[in-house]
Amino acid sequence: DLRAWQRPLRAQFPIITGNPELTYLDSAATTQKPQAVLDAVQTHLTTANANAGRGTYPWANAATTLVERTRDRIKEFLGDPGPAHSAVHFTSGTTEGLRVIARDWLPAHLSDGDEIVVPFADHQANLSPWLEAQQLLARQGVRIRVREMPYQTSSGDYDPAALAELTGPRTAFVAATHVHHVYGQNMNVHRIRQAVGSHIPMCLDAAQSVGHLPVDVADLDVDFVVFSGHKTLALPGSGAVWARQARGPRFTPGGWSGSPNTTGIVSLAPALDWLDAAGPDRIERWTVALAARLSEGLRHLDAYDILGCQYSLAADTVVQQRCGIVTFRHRAIPAGDLGFILFSHGFMVRTDGHCQADAGEKSSSVRVSLHVYNTPEEIDRLLAVLASLG
Ligand code: PMP
Repeated sequence: DLRAWQRPLRAQFPIITGNPELTYLDSAATTQKPQAVLDAVQTHLTTANANAGRGTYPWANAATTLVERTRDRIKEFLGDPGPAHSAVHFTSGTTEGLRVIARDWLPAHLSDGDEIVVPFADHQANLSPWLEAQQLLARQGVRIRVREMPYQTSSGDYDPAALAELTGPRTAFVAATHVHHVYGQNMNVHRIRQAVGSHIPMCLDAAQSVGHLPVDVADLDVDFVVFSGHKTLALPGSGAVWARQARGPRFTPGGWSGSPNTTGIVSLAPALDWLDAAGPDRIERWTVALAARLSEGLRHLDAYDILGCQYSLAADTVVQQRCGIVTFRHRAIPAGDLGFILFSHGFMVRTDGHCQADAGEKSSSVRVSLHVYNTPEEIDRLLAVLASLG
């Protein structure tokens, strides 16, 4: 019974239990933090705060050890089958993680005439770094071609057949997104791997999947996984790149040349412990069910259109793939106004263009994004308010 599983988990988020009149529906932007994470940070800052990677006194050693242990914890959390041959590089989040790969790894692995395939309709953070790498290389006289990851208009997923067609001997790198931050579509990464073959380095933007569903690097067969700490119950300003080292030369994790965000890194391990104990598979079932409840409710309200969902509402199987994210518009009320009305009822939602890279659906919409602390009652209350705006 997922309800009995969820109730005590929700009780561990003080900001949720402490604000019963408010409903937080913006977890794709950032997640709330459970008490265990707050405690770990407080303990670190009040008992052993020191800069990691420098100094030899006990607090400094303890900070360094915590950082190194967190690297191991991330590998374990991601199901890394060869932790001795992989690297974890700490970043401030997904944006910096993707940028680090594009700046420090990618250019060294591309030659004149190579092609890379990247998504044009996902988060901006998973497009601009690759275009900047292309420009950087062009200034060095290396011309690479950036190809657009094809989408299936019928499902919102990538199109593996079209991808296989545009993949060739010059394809040197593929970037994909695991869960779309506006549509909640869980992209079929296995089919992307099958389409491009086993030898091409593949990078996965996992900002909306780590902590929301099981993310297993062996199962997914990807080379880079990038995620943000603040979206996985940890502190803002923390995040990581996990890099398998098998395909292509090594990705070298950042050294100790600058001060790491020790407190942020310290918050990651208890967050991953918490998520592991709760069970990413159950979190997925919970949030997918809440998203389906919201989609179903919206489907019966004529005044609303669900983005990217014209197709998926026809088939329950596709609705089942919406990972805790539902984005919609009211046909008459502008999204900003709708957000304002919703907050007057205590609902906190995202309202804007959602940092989406493509121009197609850039105009404003309302995004509801869910996590383990949300409940079916919250969805029903939201639907009642939305229905009243008919
Ligand atoms: N990729 C995706 C899919 C995202 O949802 C986000 C955050 N909205 C990012 C990248 C950027 O993450 P951050 O702001 O933590 O760097």
